[in-house]
Amino acid sequence: GDLWEFDPAPESAPAHLLDRYKLFIDGQHVAPRSKKYFDTLSPRDGRKLSEIPLANAADVDAAYQAAARAFPAWSKLPGAERGKYLFRIARLLQDRSREMAVAETLDGGKPIKEARDFDLPMAAAHFFYHAGWADKLHYVAPGCRLAPLGVVGQVIPWNFPLLMLAWKIAPALATGNTVVLKPAETTSITALKFATILEQAGLPRGVVNIVTGAGETGAAVVNHSTAAKIAFTGSTEVGKIIQRSLAGTSKRLTLELGGKAANIVMEDAPLDQAVEGIVNGIFFNQGHVCCAGSRLLVQEGIEQEIIHRLKRRLATLRVGDPLDKNTDVGAINSAEQLSRIQELVQSGIDEGAGIYQPSCPLPSQGFYHAPTLFTGVAQSHRIAREEIFGPVLSILTFRTPEEAIEKANNTCFGLSAGIWTDKGSKILKMASALKAGVVWANTYNQFDPSSPFGGYKQSGLGREGGKHGLLDYAQLQPLATEL
Ligand code: NAD
Repeated sequence: GDLWEFDPAPESAPAHLLDRYKLFIDGQHVAPRSKKYFDTLSPRDGRKLSEIPLANAADVDAAYQAAARAFPAWSKLPGAERGKYLFRIARLLQDRSREMAVAETLDGGKPIKEARDFDLPMAAAHFFYHAGWADKLHYVAPGCRLAPLGVVGQVIPWNFPLLMLAWKIAPALATGNTVVLKPAETTSITALKFATILEQAGLPRGVVNIVTGAGETGAAVVNHSTAAKIAFTGSTEVGKIIQRSLAGTSKRLTLELGGKAANIVMEDAPLDQAVEGIVNGIFFNQGHVCCAGSRLLVQEGIEQEIIHRLKRRLATLRVGDPLDKNTDVGAINSAEQLSRIQELVQSGIDEGAGIYQPSCPLPSQGFYHAPTLFTGVAQSHRIAREEIFGPVLSILTFRTPEEAIEKANNTCFGLSAGIWTDKGSKILKMASALKAGVVWANTYNQFDPSSPFGGYKQSGLGREGGKHGLLDYAQLQPLATEL
């Protein structure tokens, strides 16, 4: 049968997900020293899915001690040997991709077709890519040794749980560091399942430790004295807290934070392609995407045409059960996130923007939000300034390329941007003027492990992916050359 054929509405979640989970410390699945657990819900139907350990400072300390014990042997392993573990992990992710994709969808709410076709293949690709680097680090910085930093603490968000884990763990291991990682509280299941992949791969105990919990556990990970580096992906608000709390320490810090990307459509753009790119840019993963194209900047002459086409396209989006493989827009990750989105949508209405939502019946259970367009948005509106992190697009207009650039850059964020035009020269000129870590031209949401990702301004510090991402996990030691 079709491996991806699901019962679209099983009575309850698969039994293996209903487990009470354990922490993964020193290669063991252990109950938390805190003796505390918290329930997680499936956003798909709002029902309880699992019990996740609430790790306290003692649990986090045990994880750091295990990682510190594992560091000497792991960091001395020849790169080719470390690479073999990463290859094994990548292949195991492929082998277990169905199970992991279903878990990701049930736990986080994303459409199964996205978990299957994006999150899982990309997570595996990150391990394959970094496996290839492990024995070639001398090419990253010729003439230098790339010495690992030590134990790194990593804290990740809920929008791409397994993929963010891969972005963090793969480069850390390739460069010889050991890890303490904390997933987001609403999406811990795939990280704890990933621990069983590490066991299958035979990774030495303590090289990767996974502790679960909310902000307090995250703070314990960030502030532990053993950490040589902290890598954080999440909100700009928490990123700033972390930056402050690490001031005066010698810990390295990389931050991947929020965004408010401008997707710029010029009058000469191929409109069919642009409309698909706009829709993908904002409705992919319900808009729970740091680089979501949430501000659509349209050149005045085509505003009405674009709005007309977008409305028509929105009406064809299938919104609903994320386990249904035809679903385009799944569930909002949590009740809290849903109310955050609703509050910002209300502010758009109150501040006078025009709202359009297609008439689509939403499931009565679970957390859902209709795809939403706002027209006539001013730069001062909250929906044009704040990250909504939901399926909500704000449409603004401009007259000239200069005005487009000015509006696009008029934000405290700078993670990504898009340009749609059939003039290659405009792409080059505008891309270099945009203050954004990645600029897509005539496409959107394209990712590759070899391409460094990261933000300007309040969107972050440092880069993840590619050669530059590796440098953020290493110390450069110049090698004396023999004359
Ligand atoms: P969040 O900042 O609320 O939480 C992120 C993680 O930090 C979670 O694991 C959380 O438990 C933990 N945390 C919370 N308070 C903490 C504290 N005081 N100290 C240490 N850890 C703490 O963000 P979120 O709501 O989970 O994720 C959404 C945000 O993530 C959005 O702003 C989005 O743009 C951003 N994001 C950025 C990127 C990127 O690459 N730039 C990628 C994905 C998501």
